[in-house]
Amino acid sequence: MVEIETGYPLSKLTTIGTGGPAAAFARPESLASLEEVLRWAEERELPSVVVGLGSNLLASDAGVGALVLRLAGDLATVELDGEILRAGGGAANAVCLHRARAAGLGGLEFASAIPGTAGGGVRMNAGAYGREWRDVLIDALVVDADGSSTVPVSELGLSYRHSGLRPGQVVARVRFRLEPSSPEAVKTKVAGLLAQRKATQPTNKRTFGSVFKNPSAELGAGRAIEECGLKGHRIGGALVSPRHANFIENGGGATSADCIAVMAEARRRVHERFGVELEHEVQFLGPLELPPL
Ligand SMILES: Cc1cc2nc3c(=O)[nH]c(=O)nc-3n(C[C@H](O)[C@H](O)[C@H](O)COP(=O)(O)OP(=O)(O)OC[C@H]3O[C@@H](n4cnc5c(N)ncnc54)[C@H](O)[C@@H]3O)c2cc1C
Repeated sequence: MVEIETGYPLSKLTTIGTGGPAAAFARPESLASLEEVLRWAEERELPSVVVGLGSNLLASDAGVGALVLRLAGDLATVELDGEILRAGGGAANAVCLHRARAAGLGGLEFASAIPGTAGGGVRMNAGAYGREWRDVLIDALVVDADGSSTVPVSELGLSYRHSGLRPGQVVARVRFRLEPSSPEAVKTKVAGLLAQRKATQPTNKRTFGSVFKNPSAELGAGRAIEECGLKGHRIGGALVSPRHANFIENGGGATSADCIAVMAEARRRVHERFGVELEHEVQFLGPLELPPL
């Protein structure tokens, strides 16, 4: 049986660096151990939640009464089979991209600035620069306490930063279809995209990526918040990034409650000014919610 730790700090599992203890935490390293630990949680009526790199995650300061999983070992490896890249759900996007480039395969460059995992990307249908997971994904091996099944991309319900995965479902493996390219061409494209990122986003700060989904193609969440004069607005240790208003930075000692307070203020002000209800993109873990408008 995979080792189960109690009270593991979620702040160590999130890029923003906030969050209280997890009731239970495990790092399954194989499909069998993942299935086993999911059954263990179900027998105890404990919900299970998988985290990737915690790069779009805000975890409650009070912690979470759930089994939190981080996929490791076989569930985080990357292999190539011709133009198909097979990745464990816990494989970092950076590793997938590195392996693809070394093999002379392109198509994943858009993911270079998305600091998550292959499985987290499915859950969020992560995307950038006009491409998203559903454009490269073939299928995903989805596991829950009842077993596992391979689900084709067309049945994953992927849309803008959304999937049809149910709570408790874990993406254990994925297959991406890539295309021939030269390592040099991939490298050049990635360098260009990363330079764009660096110029417009707080890449050297602790954040959880986009706070809110863009309300429409005409009105980005960042521009709406910026036009409310909120860049740099700080509550406790959390602040609206002075670089990009749809990011919240941990300015030192932030709590998740501080982040929620900043989000609530941004949402209130945008609603007042534009009549738009911002929907959070960042995923909540544990008892967290935004006050009603
Ligand atoms: C600096 C920065 C820049 C970013 N830029 C972008 C961007 O350009 N585009 C974009 O789309 N996102 C961006 N993000 C957000 C984030 O990186 C993506 O949403 C990413 O796909 C989340 O992956 P993760 O593995 O870290 O998931 P987590 O943040 O750990 O989890 C997010 C959600 O996915 C679920 N999940 C995680 N792993 C699995 C799994 N194996 N199976 C099932 N569910 C799972 C979690 O339970 C949670 O609900 C950015 C974040 C940062 C910090």
